[in-house]
Amino acid sequence: MIHNLVEEHVVAAYDAMRPHFPDFCGCAVCREDALVYTLNRLPARYVASTTGSVVTEVNLEKEQSRAAIEVAMMDSLRKISMAPRCGRRSTAAQQP
Ligand SMILES: [Zn+2]
Repeated sequence: MIHNLVEEHVVAAYDAMRPHFPDFCGCAVCREDALVYTLNRLPARYVASTTGSVVTEVNLEKEQSRAAIEVAMMDSLRKISMAPRCGRRSTAAQQP
């Protein structure tokens, strides 16, 4: 089973930061867009779990990686808030 460690961090970052972006829609479409957009901007860190056990111990090399993930997620939430693919109009986008 091949697993991308960054994915877990991106999902965690989404859960932590989502409440701070009230303009972000948060539906299933927008959530996946935010995760995909963020993941595509970050280098993947793959591990193989040969034992079949779920990798819960996630270690990124540096604190810098965590910061990079948070910055990328912030950009994603802002960008998708402005033009959500699900069609919901954000309050920010309606302003002149
Ligand atoms: Zn949405």
